[in-house]
Parts: sequence; C-alpha cells; structure tokens
Amino acid sequence: MEFDYDLFVIGGGSGGVRAGRVAAQEGAKVALAEEDRYGGTCVIRGCVPKKLMVFASEFAHAAEDAQAYGWDIQPGAFDWDVFRGKLYAELDRLENVYRNILGNNGVETFDQRAKVADAHTVELADGTRKTAKHILLAVGGRPTKLDVPGAELAITSNDIFHLDKLPETILIVGGGYIASEFAGILNGLGVKTTQFYRGAQILRGFDDETRNLVASEMIEKGIDLQVNTNVVSLEQDGDKVKVLDTNGTTTTFDKVMFATGRAPNTDGLGLTEVGVEIGRKGEVVVDDYSQTAVPSIYAVGDVTDRVNLTPVAIREGMAFVETVFKGNPTKPDHELIPTAIFTQPEIGTVGLSEEEARAQEPIEVYSTSFKPMQQSFAGRSEKVLMKLVVSQKTRKVLGCHIVAPGAGEMIQLAGIAVKMGATKEDFDRTVAVHPTMSEEIVTMKSPVRTG
Ligand code: FAD
Repeated sequence: MEFDYDLFVIGGGSGGVRAGRVAAQEGAKVALAEEDRYGGTCVIRGCVPKKLMVFASEFAHAAEDAQAYGWDIQPGAFDWDVFRGKLYAELDRLENVYRNILGNNGVETFDQRAKVADAHTVELADGTRKTAKHILLAVGGRPTKLDVPGAELAITSNDIFHLDKLPETILIVGGGYIASEFAGILNGLGVKTTQFYRGAQILRGFDDETRNLVASEMIEKGIDLQVNTNVVSLEQDGDKVKVLDTNGTTTTFDKVMFATGRAPNTDGLGLTEVGVEIGRKGEVVVDDYSQTAVPSIYAVGDVTDRVNLTPVAIREGMAFVETVFKGNPTKPDHELIPTAIFTQPEIGTVGLSEEEARAQEPIEVYSTSFKPMQQSFAGRSEKVLMKLVVSQKTRKVLGCHIVAPGAGEMIQLAGIAVKMGATKEDFDRTVAVHPTMSEEIVTMKSPVRTG
C-alpha cells in the first residue's frame, strides 16, 4: 500500500521534533502536526523559561554578595516587565529554531491538532486525512489541578510565565520538583511565598538527607513551607484568593498555583478506538521499543509516563528512529539517569537514594555538609551536601547526591563515572580539584553510616 508519508509525528515537542528530524535525515518522508507552539513543554512552558526565571531570581542577593567582596554596588528592584519581554523574545527565537530544524530537514509541518483515525491514518483538525506507514505519538502532558471547590481560581505552571504583574503573595501547592523550583523562583523574585505539601517532606522519591537539607535551606531563605497541609477549597476574595487548608486555617493570597501533578495528553486522540492500550494514568502503554499495542503506532516522551524529562524524550525518539528507520532495534536506556532539580539550593542526583540502596543491599554512606567558601566569605550561612552511596559488596557507587550551587553541572560529569560503574576506590584515586566544592566527592575517607 502507498502511504502519504513514511512517518507522521503528532506533537512538536522534545521527542517529536527530534524523531521527525532524524527520521527525515535518514531519508524518510516525514510530516509533523503541532497544535500549539513548536518546541513543546520544555521550550515554551517548562525547562527553558523556568531556568531563565531561576537565573533571574538568583540575582536577589548578588548585590549584597558583591558588597561583601568589596564592591561599591547597591541592590535595586526587579522589573518583571523587562524580564518578561526578554523572556518572550527568547522563546520566539527558540520556537523559530525548532520550526527551522524541521523545515530545513524536509519535514512537512501542519500547524493544527491531529488525532489518530486508524492504524495508518491521521486526521487533522480541518478534517484532512493523511496516511503514514508509521505514526509517532509525542503529544506530551499537561498540568492537572486538585479536585477541590474553587480550583478554577488557581493557576498552573503554564500560566506563571504570563502574569501581568508579579503577585505580592503566592501559595504554591505541591511538593514535587516543579512546585519546589517555583517556590524558590518566586521567593527569590521578592514574592512572599507559601508552599503547601500534603506529605511529610517535599521532593518525595529523592534521597532523604538531600531533601531535608533543601527543605531547611528553603525555609531559611524565607519560604513558608507547610508540610502535612493541603488545600480544602478556594474562594474569590476581591482580586485575591481565599484558601481554606486542612489545618482549618483560612489565608488570602494574591495568587494560588497548583503544581500537583501532570497527565498525559491522550484525551480525544482516538487511541482506544484503534486499539492502542491506555494505562491507569491515561498514559500510552508501550513496550521496550516504544511500540504500542498497534504495531504501526509508537509513542515517546511524557505521553508514555516513563521518565518525564526532556533528554529522555529525545533519547526515546532517537531509539525509535534507530529501531524503525535504521533497522537496528534499540531500547532507550532508563538506568542511572542523572538529573538536576533547580531548587535553591540546587540538587544534582544520579542513581539510588540511600533509602532505596539500603533496601536493595548492604551499603556504605559517605556524606559531608559544609559552608562553601564563596558564600561563607559573603556572610551567608547556606550549606552544601556531597554524598555517595556505595555497595559494600561490589564497591560500586550506587548513588551520588549533591546539593550545591551548580549541582546540575556537577552531576552531569559525576554521572558519567557512575554510569561507567565506578567504584568508591575509583573516586578516591582521582585527584581533587582545589579549591572547589566538588573536590569533597573524591576526598571522603570514612563512611558516616554502614549497613
Ligand atoms: P512535549 O514537550 O510536551 O511536547 C508535546 C507537544 O505536542 C506540545 O507542543 C503539544 O502542544 C503538542 N500536542 C499535544 N497534543 C497534540 C495533538 N493532538 N495534535 C498536535 N499537537 C499536539 N525536563 C527536564 O529534563 N529538565 C527540566 O528542568 C524540566 N523542567 C520542567 C519544568 C516544567 C514547569 C515542566 C512542566 C516540565 C519540565 N520538564 C523538564 C519536563 C519536560 O518539559 C518534558 O519531559 C518534555 O517536554 C517532554 O517532551 P515530549 O516531547 O514528550 O512532550
């Protein structure tokens, strides 16, 4: 049978753009439909604008620090309008980069919503139908809201970049990395920030010592972090929002942001109708090669709810192209993914937490917490953490956890060693880079805990 395309990609985000481009470079005839902006969540409403806001917020104490180092410099005010204008311009530029990547590689694009009509047919919003030998679902996910009265009054991470003005007060609901990152950002930008989390500690799933340090540093920096607390209801109060919480307290905030989870974008895509299996959270169920229950339909990225990170979506997209267009069946590797959480302070982490490792086998824990030179000289009290979790039996480093300025940059490099299977002794025989914070990662002599 003759198809219009070899590949039709639905979704122009991290995974879809990469898979579409690389397949086209392999000589495939490729089309891609995007209903919103090219670049997807990461570029338009995720990693990129968020990181730029982290940068903006980290200047909060730059003038004081400079003064401490002898500079005659005065702190000034943050101008949201100036920042937002530059942010929008940067996102426009990046969106164009993504469009051009597709165009320059011969991918035909359709600026509209698409859904699956059958195993080889995609239907565009204007009713046009296109056939393809393979269909790739790369439609990502969206933020969800708590099911409480007044939820419509809350904003989500999608809206935070578009505020007309910065609120004076904000409540951020959630304890995951997005909630915790935005608590740090808004606090740094001068917004009086409260964070509710229903559990006992934020950043569930990460190493306990790491999350405890970050939580206490966030409180130290002025965030009103209230754990074991959730929202019961929201109510309009003039131009503010009145919040009743599970402790029975009512507080009024200028804005409330829910960062309480994300859901895969599978609604209305026609998937179950054609036989694609959908999981409990609405995710597309795929095998190790990202193939769905319909052999011609594959899915990558957040819509599959495996590891919801941009580099993972990209890897899955590349593995799909290797498998389907290069005749080289390739499973995306989800083991030992290094990652950063841009809280303030920042976390870099790879491998198992102390708790996960201990449940698996006998371990040694090497950990040190100290005031770094640069901040300490400036009179700041914040602490960093360097931690290795080591297998007693194999001596391999099972986990590396860093809380420090630039921890994301550090863990990318430490991640190579851990991925290679480095032992504690490999770390030990690496000479320290002095004076740095990260030298501690190769100079920790005795375990602080074993067993
Ligand atoms: P997406 O990038 O979401 O792209 C999907 C695209 O499909 C979207 O453009 C959407 O408009 C389009 N689409 C959906 N349905 C249709 C349809 N029916 N027809 C046509 N088009 C459709 N990851 C990191 O690695 N590091 C970070 O620091 C980080 N920070 C983040 C911060 C925030 C606030 C958020 C929300 C996410 C962050 N992420 C981060 C996660 C990262 O953004 C995602 O993992 C990544 O974007 C997933 O890529 P994707 O290709 O699966 O989907």
